[in-house]
Amino acid sequence: MALGPRAEELERLVSTFVGATFGIAVSSGTSALHLLIRAFSIGDGDEVITTPFSFVASANCILYEHAKPVFVDVQPETGNIDPALIESAITSRTKAILPVDAFGHPAELDKIREIANKHGLVVIEDACESLGSAYKGKRCGSPTYAHAAAFAFYPNKQITTGEGGMIVTNDSEVARLCRSLRNQGRMESGPWLSHDRLGYNYRMDELSAALGVAQMQRIDELLAKRARVAKIYAERLSGLAGVRIPHVAPEVTTMSWFVYVIRLDKGINRDVVMESLLEAGVECRPYFTPIHLQPFYRQMFGYREGDFPVAEQLGSCSVAIPFYNNLTEGQIDYVVDRLSYALRTHA
Ligand SMILES: *Cc1c(COP(=O)(O)O)cnc(C)c1O
Repeated sequence: MALGPRAEELERLVSTFVGATFGIAVSSGTSALHLLIRAFSIGDGDEVITTPFSFVASANCILYEHAKPVFVDVQPETGNIDPALIESAITSRTKAILPVDAFGHPAELDKIREIANKHGLVVIEDACESLGSAYKGKRCGSPTYAHAAAFAFYPNKQITTGEGGMIVTNDSEVARLCRSLRNQGRMESGPWLSHDRLGYNYRMDELSAALGVAQMQRIDELLAKRARVAKIYAERLSGLAGVRIPHVAPEVTTMSWFVYVIRLDKGINRDVVMESLLEAGVECRPYFTPIHLQPFYRQMFGYREGDFPVAEQLGSCSVAIPFYNNLTEGQIDYVVDRLSYALRTHA
């Protein structure tokens, strides 16, 4: 059974946690984003301003509705969309701004909302990586800054339902539309199998929701475990030449760690360092390849290297190192030791 009492409970838990009136459980973070693009009537010919430094889903959701993602470059410290560059990208076709809280670090949500208000735009926050983070005392996804936000519960996120996602909003009309759209366009009341609009099967099943409920009930403990790992990494890595640990802006009142991404100084060959780590059995990944340089986006829009230099620079020097709730000090020491060895011998 789908859309039962457990999905409703998860909706209550997550919406209450972020301070939103409505929560709409869906089948993934991507479907949450897609429904929001639909619910705000963003379509053919419309433009959405967003970041190239993200997982591809945050731009794909715009393309699903034949609207155009308009990228602006990011801030070098956080990798988040640079509010100072947004206004010059606004045209008469712009409908929304879609910031992403990269790696769990909130975007400058107050400035983004201010720009949106000034120009009559909607803010759709991709909070898929930032459940539990807070910006100036408000949790990511909070309606204080975003008209609506999307969370994702894939296994590598702060909480998981297997596959799953959640929309949060204070907008009752958006909530009503999203509930209908996730369920084949059915109305909430009215005759069975009456479809009022083109909808999808984006429902969250009860098994997944039960998993999510159990995790939301101990969300503080889960986030504390991640914060512990991040803190030990920061201690061990801060003395290591050539490595910069993640920056957390002072406006971030709570940092909820999605991944732990270090940066290597210019002149260090990131890929060689990664190869050395992988050989030693240390899982690591380049994070992110900017969206505009993904083959599909190059092909469709003609993007090239140099279009968004800050995002590209970050993408070329970043390494996500092993990051799990229960990583032991011994495992962390091993990672740091192998990283230090790689930097000395291969870089
Ligand atoms: C994980 C993620 C998504 C999509 O989530 P899925 O549940 O995998 O569909 C979207 N945006 C960002 C930034 C993400 O990290």
